[in-house]
Amino acid sequence: MLKKVIASFLVFILCFGVLQVSAQGKSEYYSYAADLWIDNQLIGNEFFYHNGNMLVPLHVVELLGATYEFEPETWRIRIQSESQSLTMHIANYQCANQAKLEKMPAKPTFYNNTVMIPIRYVAESLGMSVSWDGKTDSVYVSTTGNIPEEFIDLRRDDVENGLLTNKIIIVDPGHGGSDPGAVAGNIKEKDLNLQVAKILTDMLKEAGANVYMTRKDDRYVGLYTRAAIANNLNADLFISIHHNASSNSAAKGVMTLFYPSSKKQKMNGQKFAQIVQKNMVNDLNAPDWGIIARPNLVVTRETRMPAALAELGFMSTKSELERLVTYEFQEQAAKSLYKSIIEALKE
Ligand SMILES: [Zn+2]
Repeated sequence: MLKKVIASFLVFILCFGVLQVSAQGKSEYYSYAADLWIDNQLIGNEFFYHNGNMLVPLHVVELLGATYEFEPETWRIRIQSESQSLTMHIANYQCANQAKLEKMPAKPTFYNNTVMIPIRYVAESLGMSVSWDGKTDSVYVSTTGNIPEEFIDLRRDDVENGLLTNKIIIVDPGHGGSDPGAVAGNIKEKDLNLQVAKILTDMLKEAGANVYMTRKDDRYVGLYTRAAIANNLNADLFISIHHNASSNSAAKGVMTLFYPSSKKQKMNGQKFAQIVQKNMVNDLNAPDWGIIARPNLVVTRETRMPAALAELGFMSTKSELERLVTYEFQEQAAKSLYKSIIEALKE
């Protein structure tokens, strides 16, 4: 069940203490668990993001051998290394990099009363190498220019399955945090969605894909934020995982939702949905509710890559629920979605 969460980005802002919101009122900031390494030292594993860029506390620049100043009256941030100087402002994309004005990929902000800066931009401007490994969710900053082999880049091609190499897949477990989705007794849809999403993510990572989950734990993430994550990473495919509920207590089966687009592409949401649905019906031996065009679904409408939302079964039907909570079913569902992702990428 996909609830239309209208002003829910407000909850997100309150939870994460974000000051800025874009003109449309859609927050582009989100928190995400990923490791930050500087040389061989693990600095932390929970950071804040804007436009797909990791933001870290300003004082982290000291670990890069730089000094900093922050002027609260003007919101001005200055970062100084031996050879470089950067001047930027909170809530502003512009940065004076030496004498040159540049547009940064993300805006500095405040978070928990801390000034947060985009680490990749800053480190690269200071002449350092930065790598993001989507398989282990790590950002690696090297002050010496030597990035250990295990961190070499987001798009490593050390995996035999060439199809998933260079691909970025977004796995979106529906609901989370204050939004449980469908509820049946003490079973919440958000938990079932996450379980299947984790299994699918592991399978994809093992096969060499770069996978990004819109949430990795039980937290609230706004629908527009989910789409923004995918768009900012320029992902290749987006799969949202949900479970259904109905007032008909005998309803059983699977359906796949998509955003109806008139764009003629080799692969689009509708085609992806067809593949997902066909495989789920077969692999899960489930009644076929077909694919359904849903023009108002935010995650499939706002994402710019082929996107589909899979409903894996009806939690409201007792006998179906008994199946949905088993690891065997969840693994089977993940395998089926995995197969569909491969098929869609082959098209
Ligand atoms: Zn749902």
